[in-house]
Amino acid sequence: HRAEDLSEKVKDLQNDLEDYNMARMNSFCDVTKVKKEIQDLNAHNQQVESCIEQMYLEKQRKEEQIQRLEHELTNDKQKLDTCRTNLDYNQIKTTSDQLQYERNSMENEISILDNRMNKMREQMLSTVTQQEAFSLIEQISELEIKHYQLINDNQNFSITEEACEKLTNQSDVDKAIESVQEYYTTIETNLDSVIEQIQSTLSNPTDDKFIKTSIQNTLKPLAKQYSDKHKDLHGSISKIGKTIDKSFQSDFGNVPITELFDTPEKFKLIYMIICEDLYRQGRMSIADKLIEESKLNDNDLFNLEKNFLEEINMILENLREKNLLPAIDWCVRHRNELNKTNSLLEFYLHKMRFVQLLQLGNFNEAKTYLTNLRQYSIMNGQCEQDVNQLMGALVFAQRDLSKSPYKYLLEPHLWLQLSELFMQQAFQQVGLAQDSPLYVVMKIGFQALPALMSIVNAMQNTQVCHILSKDELPIEIDVGQEHRYHSVFACPILRQQTTDQNPPMKLVCGHVISKDALNKLSIQNKLKCPYCPLEQSPSDARQLFF
Ligand SMILES: [Zn+2]
Repeated sequence: HRAEDLSEKVKDLQNDLEDYNMARMNSFCDVTKVKKEIQDLNAHNQQVESCIEQMYLEKQRKEEQIQRLEHELTNDKQKLDTCRTNLDYNQIKTTSDQLQYERNSMENEISILDNRMNKMREQMLSTVTQQEAFSLIEQISELEIKHYQLINDNQNFSITEEACEKLTNQSDVDKAIESVQEYYTTIETNLDSVIEQIQSTLSNPTDDKFIKTSIQNTLKPLAKQYSDKHKDLHGSISKIGKTIDKSFQSDFGNVPITELFDTPEKFKLIYMIICEDLYRQGRMSIADKLIEESKLNDNDLFNLEKNFLEEINMILENLREKNLLPAIDWCVRHRNELNKTNSLLEFYLHKMRFVQLLQLGNFNEAKTYLTNLRQYSIMNGQCEQDVNQLMGALVFAQRDLSKSPYKYLLEPHLWLQLSELFMQQAFQQVGLAQDSPLYVVMKIGFQALPALMSIVNAMQNTQVCHILSKDELPIEIDVGQEHRYHSVFACPILRQQTTDQNPPMKLVCGHVISKDALNKLSIQNKLKCPYCPLEQSPSDARQLFF
């Protein structure tokens, strides 16, 4: 039974083995199968790949075809377009052909005409008329020259005429002066002789009656003679008045604005300006008299100005006489202020003093001077070149500076330059203008007056006067760059230049109008800016100062 069991087990095991073997076989079979399958698959893959490649190529071909078709399409379109334009073009071409034909024919005609003209010219050249024409042209040009000469002469003549007129005016005056002088000289000699006569008659003791009659007899004709002469003189002198009236325009119409000088304060201002000018010119006594008469003494500001001008004038006078010491002294006293503006005035004064020492032959002092100047230049880092020049000058000066390369240091205009520099810097120190205000006012006035006189009729017109602002001239007058002192602002609303009474006002939005315009535009304490319609309060506007 156990054996049976065992044999059965063996059988089972054999079966199992068989199964295994089968399975192994099967599996072996499978591997080969799989291998084959793989081979098949590979083959298939390759087939598919080639297929895909073919398809891709086909696709490319198709695309190319599409492109070609598209290209053809656009070509067709273009052709269509050109065809369309060709329709117009044909018309144009026919007209252009016509025109071309006309042009050709015209050109032909022109060339024919040209030929004819050339022929005629040739003919003319050979004829006498041309020569005549030439001579005529020459004559004409000569006449033209004469004509211009005459015009010139005429101008000259009118100029001389003017000069003649002036001369006659002059001679009127001269005549009057001459006759006055003659009057005086003769009256003196005559009086002397009469006095002598009277003295001689008095020295002869005769009776009073005789003396009286004799004196009367000598005096009467003389008195008559001189009263006649006086009448003559009066006549010629009164003539001078007329000549003066003729030579000068006396009627300035409404040109001068008389209200400008309507208060005593304004008059005082004018006196101050006149006095300042007198001081600047060194006419101290005249200025003092004017101050006395106009009672300017109480004006502290002006007294300050007066003292300053007096001193400056003294220094300038000294500079004119080539005395540098007061100017140098002034610079020493004002050194701090001058240094603030990097002024080289003191250096230039010393430089001139050095040249003066060279001219005086005072070489020892000049040497110490030069050392000081050199130290100054080293400390200041400036004027090195000037100092070098002075060193060269010192070497040459011991022979003759005026024949040296440094002779330019002796040129007289350097003194004028120095005076001007001194004036400019001194005035700058006290904040006074370099030019006298009176001079500037007169200069600008003389420039403006002719232009104003030319529109005097318009200015006299009361309607025009009404429009004109008192502080503004009716026309613009160019007085040159040097007399432009500040910017001006014209109100864009009222189209008027702003003034102290009507100043420019800046609104909250930044736009600027005049005060008058601001007042006119504001309604019930509200203002709409005329440029950007920003509503604001007129009291927020700020005054601008130019
Ligand atoms: Zn605005």
